[in-house]
Amino acid sequence: MKTISKQLVEKFNELLAPCRVCPRECGVDRIKGELGSCGAGLEPEISSYHRHFGEEPPLVGLHGSGTIFLTHCNLHCVYCQNYEISQLGMGRKTTLEGLARMMLRLQELGCHNINLVTPTPWVPQVVAALAMAQDQGLALPVVYNCGGYEAVPTLRLLEGIVDIYMPDIKYADNAFAARYSGADDYWDVVRPALKEMHRQVGDLVVEKGIARKGLLIRHLVLPDNIAGTRQCFEFISRELSKTTTVNVMAQYYPTFRAGQHAALNRRITTQEYRRALEESRRLGLDAGFRQTIDTIFREIVPEWTDDLKDTPGP
Ligand code: SF4
Repeated sequence: MKTISKQLVEKFNELLAPCRVCPRECGVDRIKGELGSCGAGLEPEISSYHRHFGEEPPLVGLHGSGTIFLTHCNLHCVYCQNYEISQLGMGRKTTLEGLARMMLRLQELGCHNINLVTPTPWVPQVVAALAMAQDQGLALPVVYNCGGYEAVPTLRLLEGIVDIYMPDIKYADNAFAARYSGADDYWDVVRPALKEMHRQVGDLVVEKGIARKGLLIRHLVLPDNIAGTRQCFEFISRELSKTTTVNVMAQYYPTFRAGQHAALNRRITTQEYRRALEESRRLGLDAGFRQTIDTIFREIVPEWTDDLKDTPGP
């Protein structure tokens, strides 16, 4: 992470009023406490922070990923698995100093990174807290763990601050994105956003089993190919790189409001997951994570791919 200047923190703060932190560009005055589509105000809200051992192995290492779950989200997925936090506002307000202390505490605990979950609505506050923590010795890589619905101008300002981008690529069809996540331009937005992330940090770099920098994309396979898996992988393979690390995720289950949508009201089948893996192989996307078929209906245990198995452990 580069040194964050006061001027840069100010530049981020300017995005809050009128709010254009994310592509929704709600235009509300968050400095005055007005709320836009995401429901995030001025003071940061945090659901929890802790060492997390359930992320991808290069983020977890031996001591865990230093995860901070931020409240609210700029997407409104009807099947969100963290819906209490993202959609129902579960969390508590904290100060910028408080957020900086959480980061430093996670470093004290030996975590390998600061993993910001759903940072998008809070980018200015997160950057201000990172600057404070940096003054007090924070030196961990910063992980930006988001839904992929990001504004490129905001991402450009994050260059040098974020070490590891971990976006989703959720849909390749704006109509599905509108129906299931309330974002009718998702496919138009996610592609330039991922290109900008890749431009900044490149492919994932793993040293001694630990991720240091780069791009790690998550793709959650949805029933009836709602996620547009083939188109998503084609985009990654052709417009980012074939060596992009992709986590092909099988753990979809209907939760929150998914039961109101017939197509989403079931888990995926083994055939659907196999088809997704075949697509990724066909396009040469071999640097990534797969989940074993027999775990889909049991506990989900991420597996190393052959590529990453060869990486020396910590
Ligand atoms: S961060 Fe929230 S308020 Fe700001 S533009 Fe995005 S959705 Fe709207």
